[in-house]
Order: sequence, then C-alpha cells, then structure tokens
Amino acid sequence: MSLSKKNLKILTTKIQTERERILQGLGEIKAESYFLSDGDRLDEVDQATSEYERSQMLRFRNRNHFYKKKLDKTLAKISEGDYGTCEECDSDIKFERLFARPTAELCISCKDEAEREEKSSFIGSQSKSMSKRVSLVG
Ligand SMILES: [Zn+2]
Repeated sequence: MSLSKKNLKILTTKIQTERERILQGLGEIKAESYFLSDGDRLDEVDQATSEYERSQMLRFRNRNHFYKKKLDKTLAKISEGDYGTCEECDSDIKFERLFARPTAELCISCKDEAEREEKSSFIGSQSKSMSKRVSLVG
C-alpha cells in the first residue's frame, strides 16, 4: 500500500467517525428524506402509506447495516495492512479517491468498468427491486 502513515490515519479516523454515525443512526432512524415527496405521494388509504413508509425505513436500516459491515471490513483491512489496494488489479487506490469514499475496494479504472457493466444490467435489476417493493407493500 502506498498510503503514508499520516494519510492512513486521516482515513482511519474518517471511517471510525462514519461508523459511529451509522451506529447512532441505527438507533434513531431519520427516514424523512426517504419518504416520497408530496407530489409523488399517493392518495391511498393511510394504512397503505404507513406500510410503505415502514418498508422504506426498513430499506434505510438495511442499507445502514450493509454500510456498517463495509466499514468494519475496511477497518479490518487497515489493521492487516491490506488497505488501499484495488481488489481487482492490485494497484494502489489514490488517497483522493479513498478520502471521498473510504470503503472503496476498486481503483478508479476498475470501478468505471464495473459501473459500465452495472448500467448494462440496470433495467433488469430495476424491475426486480420494483417487484420486491410491491410485495413488501402488499
Ligand atoms: Zn483496479
């Protein structure tokens, strides 16, 4: 890994702070921003709306759990001296990239490639998550 001790320390602190924030967020869910905006809100029965909001909250919670796991994994990597290396091509991930996204596991060029693949299968995954949401609400 090419990170200097100083930079590594900056990133470690950043990750630990993020982790704290997530842990607090898990206890006290701020889901407002995940609700539908007024324009999109369906004029359905209240029951249905609260079901929907519950499922949105659940998604938010799951996402936080997932992110926390990722942060834990990243911290483990740091202590093993394994941090900052691309999992795909073994090249060093730039500090600037890690600073913007401390849990990054891929260098920018591998990430670009992965995103291109993601986009090409976007429509498929989109309709899958739609049907999942429908089944959660119904
Ligand atoms: Zn790479």
